[in-house]
Amino acid sequence: MSSDTTTAQEALTFSDLGLSPKVLSAVTDAGYTQPTPIQAGAIPHALLGKDVLGIAQTGTGKTASFVLPMLTRLEKGRARARMPRTLILEPTRELAAQVEENFIKYGKNHKLNIALLIGGVSFDEQDKKLERGADVLIATPGRLLDHRERGKLLLNGVEILVIDEADRMLDMGFIPDIERICEMIPFTRQTLFFSATMPPEITKLTEKFLHAPVRVEVSKAASAATNIIQRLVKSGSKPWDKRETLRNLIKAEDAELKNAIIFCNRKVEVSELFRSLLKYDFDAGALHGDMDQRARMQMLANFRDGKLRYLVASDVAARGLDIPDVSHVFNYDVPIHAEDYVHRIGRTGRAGRSGKSFTIATMSDTKYIDAIERLIGTEIEWHDGDLSTVVASEGEDDAPRRGKGAPRRAGRKDDDRKDRGERKDGGERKKGGERRARHSEEDAPAVAAQQHEQSNAAETPVADVVERRARKDAIRSENTERKSSDRNERAPERGDTRPQRGDNNRPGRQRHQEDNDATVGFGDDMPAFMRIVAKV
Ligand code: AMP
Repeated sequence: MSSDTTTAQEALTFSDLGLSPKVLSAVTDAGYTQPTPIQAGAIPHALLGKDVLGIAQTGTGKTASFVLPMLTRLEKGRARARMPRTLILEPTRELAAQVEENFIKYGKNHKLNIALLIGGVSFDEQDKKLERGADVLIATPGRLLDHRERGKLLLNGVEILVIDEADRMLDMGFIPDIERICEMIPFTRQTLFFSATMPPEITKLTEKFLHAPVRVEVSKAASAATNIIQRLVKSGSKPWDKRETLRNLIKAEDAELKNAIIFCNRKVEVSELFRSLLKYDFDAGALHGDMDQRARMQMLANFRDGKLRYLVASDVAARGLDIPDVSHVFNYDVPIHAEDYVHRIGRTGRAGRSGKSFTIATMSDTKYIDAIERLIGTEIEWHDGDLSTVVASEGEDDAPRRGKGAPRRAGRKDDDRKDRGERKDGGERKKGGERRARHSEEDAPAVAAQQHEQSNAAETPVADVVERRARKDAIRSENTERKSSDRNERAPERGDTRPQRGDNNRPGRQRHQEDNDATVGFGDDMPAFMRIVAKV
């Protein structure tokens, strides 16, 4: 790769960058005066039609660094039916929707057709938008290929291709899809390529598909922000130990805690922890890849708007989301991939604010902690003594104690008994967790099916929780849309299941169809992960 490296210089104003008056006016209206380093470094080259390799994380202003020059360049020419002029590939639905929001915000003075092709929503609307002719096509790779296979999309009119969050695409098993897509687009295109880190597979991809790119690197990807206080918190390794550790931490931080994202490694843990927090009356929501799109967006909006104080999330669902002003990040699990730690804690301490992150650590996590410390180049302090002082619990109740803040409900005795059942199974599942290396949520179908069976035995407390939740939130989701398609994001979370595309008999789909039969509290609007546990 012949590459010309520039140091990202901060230009004084946006008007120094060569953007069109329409774009400048929208940027001014957005209240931005100074371009960020990635914007200052990338925009002038992107406007000249050069390929750009941007090494930058979310939170650096990288979205505008491709949206603004694209808008300027799109002012000439118009779209033709089924032949989009530009294509932006994003790894998750949320990121794709965020990019669409950016095009709407900065493109308010343009009359551009924008189409968003993501899973979890019906094909029909998307087909109509393609038919009308899209100036801007934003897509996740699986859904894009689905449209192409249906013959509804031609990629030979694409003038600008953006590949965003490339390292995340790699984690999610999307690289073969990306290669296929790149080969479908004319070689004369301009390519803008962004990645927070540059593992060898990504470097190879850039060598294959970028032409003499300008490399713009704005900060070391694997550095943790210095305005975040980071602590490790010792815990016993059983799920109920960890849940108790988390609850105690949250209570201790109460005065400073505005809102928190709580990260788990797998979606089954997201579901379990979410239910447990609700049981203890924490104002929590959950975000993972098995939820249908509308429920995910609604959950996120509730958290952003302050309607929810806690958001339990998986990496896949939360990566790259722009949620400003999160005061705390709790790692309920130590991330298996050290880079995920940097991304997780980067959800707090944004835009120069201070933030706090607590990582719950058990005896079996030491090698992952070592890897994180090597990556960030510093030792993380222990909050209250290291693991040598952990006292293993003998299985205390994971149900709210009577008298202190949690009134005893009818059926409490049953609940306690069932909690013990859940604990036992949770402990057994944990053992297998070590084997899962690549995709943090890859084995979810098997585990979720197991959880499904267990949950049927524990119907009373869960139904109770779900009903309470339903009264608190009117979360809307669309069963019909979920049934119709959501394969492109859920598949990678289970591992690379691309060959199964179109397979209506795969376990996840069967499970959802069965689960539609009986729901509690939400009727047809219940999020998918609750559906798993709320049969009556
Ligand atoms: P991104 O890295 O694209 O996710 O952007 C992170 C945040 O920075 C978003 O909330 C943007 O709206 C904001 N932002 C983008 N560009 C600027 C800028 N030049 N000045 C201040 N904030 C910005």
